[in-house]
Amino acid sequence: MLIIQEIRAKSILNKSQVFDYCVNPYTGCQIGCVYCYARLFMSRYSGHREGWGEFVDAKINAPEVLKKQVSKAKEGTVWISSVCDPYQPLEATYQLTRRCLEELLAMQFPVTVQTKSDLVLRDVDLFRKFDEVEVGFTITTEDEKTAHCFEPGAAPIAKRVEALDRLHAAGIRTFAFVGPLLPGNPEKLIRDLEGKVDRILIDRMNYIRSVKGFYRQQGLLQETSDEFFEDYKCRLIFALRKRGMLFEVLF
Ligand code: SF4
Repeated sequence: MLIIQEIRAKSILNKSQVFDYCVNPYTGCQIGCVYCYARLFMSRYSGHREGWGEFVDAKINAPEVLKKQVSKAKEGTVWISSVCDPYQPLEATYQLTRRCLEELLAMQFPVTVQTKSDLVLRDVDLFRKFDEVEVGFTITTEDEKTAHCFEPGAAPIAKRVEALDRLHAAGIRTFAFVGPLLPGNPEKLIRDLEGKVDRILIDRMNYIRSVKGFYRQQGLLQETSDEFFEDYKCRLIFALRKRGMLFEVLF
C-alpha cells in the first residue's frame, strides 16, 4: 500500500554534485527500483518507516518556493530529479513537476529531465519553449522481464523508447542513461535507441553490496561481476561506434 502525505518544503532548488542544482518535487518514489541509491538513505532521512517505493511525500508548495528561489539564484542547469522520478504516477494528479518547470521556464534556467515514465510527454509544450533543455530516459536493458523485475513501477521499455522517439521528433534534445547495466542484449538495445537520442550515458551497478541478495535470488550473481560489466560495456561501445552514435562511459 502506498502512503501519501502532503508536506510543505523549505527549499526546492538545491545544490547538486552532478549539475548546478536539483529539484525534487516529491520525497519518495513509486517506481521503487531495487537498485535505487536513494533507498539507502531517503527513508531514514525523511523519517519514514515504510520501505522505499511505499511512501511519497508531495511537496505541495514546491512551485511557490521554487519561484522565490530562482528569482534570487545564479543561473545554472537544473536536474529534475535526483532522488525521485519527477513523472511517477502521482504527478498525473499533483502536477508539481509541471508547475516547477513553468517557474524554471519563466527564468529560462537550463533543465535536464530524467525519468522512467512516459507521462513526461504531457509536458512537451513546455520543453519546446526552453532555450536549453534535455529530456532523458533511464533504460537499463532492452529486456522487458528483467526491467520489470528491477524497476517494478517503471514504464515498459518499449514505451520509454517510443517516448524518446516522440520527444526527439518534436525537436527536443534527448538522451538515454544506460545504467546501471542490467542483463540483456546490448546490440539490440543500441539498435532500438538509434535515431531517437542525441547521446547515451553508460554506467555500471555502483551499489553491488546492497543488491547482491536480490541478484542471488534471481540467479544472476554472475551479472554482478566486473567481467560482466566490462564485457557488456565493450559490446555497447562496439555497437555505438558502428552507428556513429555519441556516448560517454562513466566507469
Ligand atoms: S526511478 Fe530513480 S529515484 Fe525512483 S526508485 Fe528508481 S532509481 Fe530511485
